[in-house]
Amino acid sequence: MNDKNDNVTQSQKKDSRWNKDPKKGGPAEHDSFFNMNPKQFKYSLWFFIGALFFIMILNASIEQMNQTQETVSFSDFKEKIEAGEIIKVRLGEKFYYGQTISVQESTGTQKTVIYQTVPINDPAFISLMDAHNVDYSAAVQQNPMLMNFILSWVFPFAFIYIIWKLMAKKMGNLGAGVMNFGKNRSMIVAETDTHVKFEDVAGAEESKEELKEVVDFLDNPGKYTEIGGKIPKGVLLVGSPGTGKTLLARAVAGEANVPFFRMSGADFVEMFVGVGAARVRDLFKQAREKSPCIVFIDELDAIGKSRINVAGGNDEREQTLNQLLVEMDGFDSTTGVILLGATNRPEILDPALLRPGRFDRQVVMDRPDITGREAILKIHAKDVKLDNSVNLELVARATPGFVGADLANIINEAALLAVRAGRKEVLQEDFSEAIEKTVAGLQKKNRLINPKERKIVAHHETGHALTAAFTKGADPVQKITIVPRGISALGYTLQTPTEDRFLMSREELLGKIDVLLGGRAAEQIIFQEISTGAANDLTRATDIARSMITEYGMSEKFKNMVLTKRGSQFLGPAAQPQMSREYSEATQQYIDEEVAEILKDRYSNVLQLLKDKQDQLEKISEKLLTIETIEADEFYKMAGIT
Ligand code: ADP
Ligand code: MG
Ligand code: ZN
Repeated sequence: MNDKNDNVTQSQKKDSRWNKDPKKGGPAEHDSFFNMNPKQFKYSLWFFIGALFFIMILNASIEQMNQTQETVSFSDFKEKIEAGEIIKVRLGEKFYYGQTISVQESTGTQKTVIYQTVPINDPAFISLMDAHNVDYSAAVQQNPMLMNFILSWVFPFAFIYIIWKLMAKKMGNLGAGVMNFGKNRSMIVAETDTHVKFEDVAGAEESKEELKEVVDFLDNPGKYTEIGGKIPKGVLLVGSPGTGKTLLARAVAGEANVPFFRMSGADFVEMFVGVGAARVRDLFKQAREKSPCIVFIDELDAIGKSRINVAGGNDEREQTLNQLLVEMDGFDSTTGVILLGATNRPEILDPALLRPGRFDRQVVMDRPDITGREAILKIHAKDVKLDNSVNLELVARATPGFVGADLANIINEAALLAVRAGRKEVLQEDFSEAIEKTVAGLQKKNRLINPKERKIVAHHETGHALTAAFTKGADPVQKITIVPRGISALGYTLQTPTEDRFLMSREELLGKIDVLLGGRAAEQIIFQEISTGAANDLTRATDIARSMITEYGMSEKFKNMVLTKRGSQFLGPAAQPQMSREYSEATQQYIDEEVAEILKDRYSNVLQLLKDKQDQLEKISEKLLTIETIEADEFYKMAGIT
């Protein structure tokens, strides 16, 4: 009811809660004129030199036109009074000034001469002036030099400065101008209310949960700062395009009821060197003024690309990135500015961005599973008239791999199809047609996996899970899913360790290898064919087997002997080839053979295990294909373990 009032008092309260100590503001707390980059400075320097000359010439000519000042001796001064030349005298403390009548010059201008003299205590002086009808007055004690200086220098300067400011402002609005070079072109405007709430983002419960803390902090900073707790400065939202990263960032601002500054990484990268950096500076300056608030940098990878891997480098992007890093270090969370970033390629980001105190927290936006998709469909169908027969669950089931943006698009397509058919309500068949259209498009763009692949992934993951369930000492299965995660994983099986482990027995290491091989073994059994999907599993299995022999001394021949390679730890992976072995070529061959032996042995074990459990394997895979995610309880029930 009292929404408006509430808002006002709340925001006022908020303001007073933040301690806005300017000294804490960081390096970008500055006046725009005195803190410019070299380019800007050069322009205004020329401007000022021009102005200086202008004033000098003006001053000189005004003096020449109107009056000249001459210093004379006191006796000359008296003579000029007697001669009637001086008609007006000002009696100053240090000087007397005598003014002559204006004389018409040949140029047509009036000219007066002011005679200045150092007075001598002469009692007859006043009567002399009285006698010649001189208009005299005592000058108020002042320093004419100072007055002169103010009038002819400070005043014009101030005037010109004001004009200059006004001009700069105007040009800024027009989006051009040299004086304003590099300043933001009124494109970052804080949204005071994003009108997006957490309830508008569906199917991302875990991500929302993590961001609730940020909202809570913006609401009650005292709660955290009193204890001395540190809230993350930067949170990075990671996920495939269209999973709702931008939407979620806006929802955070909407929930916390704070201003929202959004800029896309691409906006920062400009043709002119220095512009992007200036924008970053400006963005943060504004944000500090409006704190508490959220600064959201969308598509962070556009500026945050690793500086190492880019051939040739890009000055502009690098400067922008550097400025961003500087700004991030320049505030702490007590200023109430929280930075959110979004990217779909976290692996190419510059490591400097991910360091503690920067984007040190990551929130993953997964593709939605079937329930998530249904929830998203419901949100977007709210404003669409649906026929009673429409079942959104069926739509969700038919759209595996679709992200939020795709689903919003489906609803829209279906509505358009209904309109085209001249109907007032959307039917189920409109959805079917819309899905068909979209699926084809997405598959062409390689953004969806096809049904055959989905089947392989389901069996592969079930293979991992079943092997884990029947291997003694393996970590229990927490959930299996075929919802693609991140960029490369098509599905995954989550195992949670029952306790923290620092030591592992030989048995347990072999068990780990078994679970890793379970995926490929399942493919082999069901499809009599193996795929590339196991590549990562195989790498890890091989690593474990190799370590068993070279590091843990678990081989027959080199019992309790370490066969490590020696090399500099500091040179990184690129230095690997230069590492030197401390054993013979023959030993290397033995290691390779032994690793192969272990893997072969374990693989046939796993094949046997899964052949015995083929029923469960097929049943669980089938279920996985329909509901996409199976939780622990259900999995163990279906596996026949209780
Ligand atoms: P991203 O920034 O991850 O590429 P967006 O946030 O721009 O994705 O999503 C685009 C649109 O897709 C959103 O405006 C919204 O309409 C829809 N959308 C995406 N994810 C969701 C979701 N989880 N819940 C509701 N709508 C979503
Ligand atoms: Mg986005
Ligand atoms: Zn696997």
